Amino acid sequence: MENNEHIPCVELKKLVKRFPETVAVENVSLKVKQGEVFSLLGPSGCGKTTTLRIIAGLETADEGEVLIDGQVVNKIPPYRRNCNLVFQNLALFPHMTVEENIAYGLERRKTPKTEIKEKIGKMLDLMHLAGMEKRYPAQISGGQKQRIALARSLVLEPKILLLDEPLASLDRKIRKELQVELRRIQKELGITFFYVTHDQRVALAISDTIAVMRAGRLEQIAPPDEIYDTPRTKFIADFMGATNIFSGRAALKGDREVRLESDEGLVIFAFNHKNIPVEKITGISVHPERIHVLAGDSKSRADNSFKGKIVEMVYQGDFVETKILLLNVENSRSIIVHLNTKLSQKSQFSIGKVVLVQWDKENSNILQD
Ligand code: ATP
Repeated sequence: MENNEHIPCVELKKLVKRFPETVAVENVSLKVKQGEVFSLLGPSGCGKTTTLRIIAGLETADEGEVLIDGQVVNKIPPYRRNCNLVFQNLALFPHMTVEENIAYGLERRKTPKTEIKEKIGKMLDLMHLAGMEKRYPAQISGGQKQRIALARSLVLEPKILLLDEPLASLDRKIRKELQVELRRIQKELGITFFYVTHDQRVALAISDTIAVMRAGRLEQIAPPDEIYDTPRTKFIADFMGATNIFSGRAALKGDREVRLESDEGLVIFAFNHKNIPVEKITGISVHPERIHVLAGDSKSRADNSFKGKIVEMVYQGDFVETKILLLNVENSRSIIVHLNTKLSQKSQFSIGKVVLVQWDKENSNILQD
């Protein structure tokens, strides 16, 4: 007998979707494990929603297969996939109260009235909506509407919930709160989430696995820490906020290290933990918060240390985003560093000062195209 645990909840095999002007989904393959939060992350127009709609059955694929619990569902209409798959639709019924909106799916399933009441009560609490049950959608805020839409899907306790930017119009504080709540509810109910977002912070916070999509293709599928720390390509590095990206030619140094000569003539070192063939290496990225800044007269012969001049400082609350123009470099090249707010108050770290930037080889991430 097969063990269900090992059958992916959702599997896409070489999915292709063409529109007259674009290939929205190009050869996408992925596996979503039972009970995980799987995020599809990418910029606007990269094909996330189209992929989601194909899984829900609202759009047909031109090529490839969609499997749910190991069964090919390409030819199964959406309403018949619906017993365990819910596509979270933000549109609420305007003529129904909050309570009626949340109850709608349960009533269609002919759930007993007392059970409906109990479940709605729980959901309203969970979503901090208690007291609003008798209001109509026109009488509540955008963020509250989003929470009701979420409640309406979650109350059905589907096996898989397909979510398209469900937290998009919420303010920062509520978004963070709901992220935590969603994650808790998801684990508690054991619902698999397929979560579409363009917001890397949301994806990092809620996912077990992230697939980064670019122009219809997947560029990397990995856990959040891996996507953040070791983005595979320049596109992902940039998208995940590693604003320091150096392109150049790489050579091996010993069997574990790489020496990259950047286009500006900098020599940068990195560990090659993943043994990436040197000919495939096209650059190195470093996150701004992983770079140290030392006073200009500090003596350092360490690898990855460069002299520069502070040219811009933008206060961000917990850090100061600091732009440092490198000296002794042919083309003008700057590095962005997140300077500790306390350090930024010292006079040797003000605009115009010469400083030394330095980072550990461990924090150089190797990039491919
Ligand atoms: P967003 O985050 O802005 O919603 P997305 O990543 O979800 O973007 P999709 O909505 O899947 O992207 O669109 C992918 C591409 O397919 C886009 O270029 C879009 O213009 C195109 N597209 C989507 N739906 C259609 C359609 N029905 N007809 C023609 N082109 C479409």
